[in-house]
Amino acid sequence: METSVSREKSVRAFERARQLIPGGVNSPARAFGAVGGVPLFIDHASGQHLYDVDGNRYLDYIGSWGPMILGHAHPEVLAAIAEAASKGTSFGAPTERESHLAELILAAVPSMERVRLVSSGTEATMSAIRVARGATGRSKIIKFAGCYHGHVDSLLVSAGSAAATLGVPDSPGVTAGTSQDTIVLNYNDVAALENVFAEHPHTIAAVILEPVVGNMGTVIPTPSFLQALRTLTKSDGAVLIFDEVMTGFRVAYGGAQSLFGIDPDITTLGKIVGGGMPLAAYGGKASIMDNVMPAGKVYQAGTLAGNPLATAAGAKTLELLRDNPPYDHLEKICSTLGQGLQSAAKAHGIPTQLQRVGSMMTLFFNESPVIDWPSADRSDRKRFARYFWSLIDQGIYMPCSQFEALFVSATHTMSDIEQTIDAASRFFQTET
Ligand SMILES: *Cc1c(COP(=O)(O)O)cnc(C)c1O
Repeated sequence: METSVSREKSVRAFERARQLIPGGVNSPARAFGAVGGVPLFIDHASGQHLYDVDGNRYLDYIGSWGPMILGHAHPEVLAAIAEAASKGTSFGAPTERESHLAELILAAVPSMERVRLVSSGTEATMSAIRVARGATGRSKIIKFAGCYHGHVDSLLVSAGSAAATLGVPDSPGVTAGTSQDTIVLNYNDVAALENVFAEHPHTIAAVILEPVVGNMGTVIPTPSFLQALRTLTKSDGAVLIFDEVMTGFRVAYGGAQSLFGIDPDITTLGKIVGGGMPLAAYGGKASIMDNVMPAGKVYQAGTLAGNPLATAAGAKTLELLRDNPPYDHLEKICSTLGQGLQSAAKAHGIPTQLQRVGSMMTLFFNESPVIDWPSADRSDRKRFARYFWSLIDQGIYMPCSQFEALFVSATHTMSDIEQTIDAASRFFQTET
């Protein structure tokens, strides 16, 4: 089964990077910490393929952790970036490109009446929390264990074992003072949510969640959870924030809120909205967003915000998705992949939970459905690490953790899917 591929140049590149950059990477997940071993250093990418510095080709199921829904190096996106670059790369002054992208976003996500462009998903969620607090004059926020909202201090908090714990920071450097206003609950736990609102009436500024979770692996909200979120926040006067940095333009053009028919008060976007460039956004009801400076008093700014190259890439990506929607194709190939992987595992007696919405999906090595962080945490990480490396050896680049969603792009073909299922079957056979 093992194709003895050389990864020598990646090994050397990692040794060099580790002398220069903490852990050798500029974002921790890239270091392959959850599966062990040396990360692949990438030379270039095209369509559904990544090429490492040793010249190996991989079928890519990460897509830069979400943005590359059209595949890598899409010719029209590249042309839009080049055209923008030829006119200068940053002005620090308003451009019509920003309004063009804002129009595309507001048309796609009708709950957003105003939008502010920023440079990363972290900035978007941080700013959304700030404007929610500024608009309500309240301090406390509710987040859910296992949901990731970027490395914002007040959001780098997860649950202890109790259903509702007052936040304890996940990271040194986040002070207890910062996290004490963060309440952490389990995802899909309606009773806990009701209790918090009953115990702290009119003190919660915002509830933030991933409306389909990608960051503990793919976890789907129950209809009663979504309904409770909307009803409780509305009657209490708290701001409901859908963090659609991953799901926006991914699970549907209008994001998870369009699938579920729920209008949040604020939405955060990132990843796809920047077309592979550093761009993200937050926006929502005008009555909330008009608190943002200079319309209002909540300060938020960015030297490179609304950058012309990034807005060009984002706008072209959204136009292509709007005018030639790949979502039916994505649904078809990703459901075929999911069913194929799950039945191959079953054929070898390996218990799995396949959880998918559109083109984001996780195969959990788990005996029972994953509905929240405690159930995700029962997955077999060791088996996942073996699965990951077996697929790498067979030229398939899956997310390097059990708790990350995989993504399919518009450039993946049915034969790619068949090849992936065959490779996974060969692995499952070795597990029995
Ligand atoms: C990726 C992600 C973020 C953080 O975005 P960055 O651009 O990495 O700062 C926030 N929220 C969700 C749901 C994400 O998936």
